Amino acid sequence: MGGEMRIDHFVLADFVARIFEAAACDEAESARVGLSLVGANLAGHDSHGVIRVPRYIAWLESGVLQRGQTITIVSEGPAHASLHGNSGFGQTIGPLAVDFGLAKARAAGVAVVGLRNAGHLGRIGEWGERAAEAGMVAIHFVNVANGAIVAPFGGVERMFATNPVCIAVPSADGPPIVLDFATSLVAEGKAQVAAAGGKPLPPGALVGPDGRLSADPALLYGPLDTPGVREPGRGPGALRPFGEHKGSGLAFMCEILAACLTGGATSAPVDRRPGRRVSNGMLSIYLDPAHFAGAGFAAAVAGYAGLVAASRPAVPGGTVLLPGEAERRTCEQRMREGVPLQADTWERITAVARRLGVPLPAA
Ligand code: NAD
Repeated sequence: MGGEMRIDHFVLADFVARIFEAAACDEAESARVGLSLVGANLAGHDSHGVIRVPRYIAWLESGVLQRGQTITIVSEGPAHASLHGNSGFGQTIGPLAVDFGLAKARAAGVAVVGLRNAGHLGRIGEWGERAAEAGMVAIHFVNVANGAIVAPFGGVERMFATNPVCIAVPSADGPPIVLDFATSLVAEGKAQVAAAGGKPLPPGALVGPDGRLSADPALLYGPLDTPGVREPGRGPGALRPFGEHKGSGLAFMCEILAACLTGGATSAPVDRRPGRRVSNGMLSIYLDPAHFAGAGFAAAVAGYAGLVAASRPAVPGGTVLLPGEAERRTCEQRMREGVPLQADTWERITAVARRLGVPLPAA
């Protein structure tokens, strides 16, 4: 363990795609998974990047995740739909569900789309960006069926998943503005990154069964020297929500909107039988600004965002960032300098590649 390397993002995406092809996914789906995971690394969310490869492969092999799926329409009307993701890759089901909602919103002005049983949808900002780049406002609430690892405010038992929320808006003459965060103090993958020897967790990110606050990822994964895929079910503790009672309430509402309302499953209770389904539920609301503020919306956004960005920083020389700006800056830097990966993460990915007969990229 220990140490860090950098790898070109094209090389990494291609390598990941080849791993999924070797696991019998078709070329297009494999490429989507590669690009999406590396896209999360480029955005600086290593928690949702290629670190997920061993777990996705394990899910494919156990049948939790299914190749080559599409969305099934359970019910629909002019401005709403209920979709089933058939345990397909989030990187396949996600764009299909978003584009389905956007088409409805374009016609009706607004669309509400419930999606259940999608494979891991990764960085939710990717779906918000897709909508905002098409000129729409998007709001996403997400949960993880069978994925409870967050204790509610005041509790120690795993009741919620890390339940992300994303709001994305188009802006005139610039990239979309994308707010996208987990409702846990840190995303689970950040605990994975810390467990792999990467950036340590902030104090109090976790809570032990005795109620004691901690930053030790072993509370999620059990002993960190265990080889193979790191699963958060092995430890005795839980992550904590961000923002104390407020974040805890938002995480609770993600369960209600992304699971109870979509017809999916809540994050708890966790079904521990082999082959249990770990899937994302997502309630998405799409709004076409043309039906609300009209053509001036994107300019109004840009004007206000400009004011906020230019406002006086707390520290001399500091910056006030807009939602999505940190990701964009990191992306520009990593495209130039390569994607940093912990040695432990690389070893776990290359172990999977070797087992599937995929040649490693040249040094
Ligand atoms: P985070 O804590 O880094 O917060 C990210 C948000 O804060 C972004 O909108 C970012 O632009 C903004 N931000 C960051 N620094 C800022 C600054 N200095 N000033 C102003 N704004 C700033 O993200 P996170 O909570 O660790 O989530 C990471 C990712 O994990 C997200 O992409 C999320 O969608 C994803 N996630 C996915 C699932 C799933 O089940 N699919 C579950 C949990 C999280």
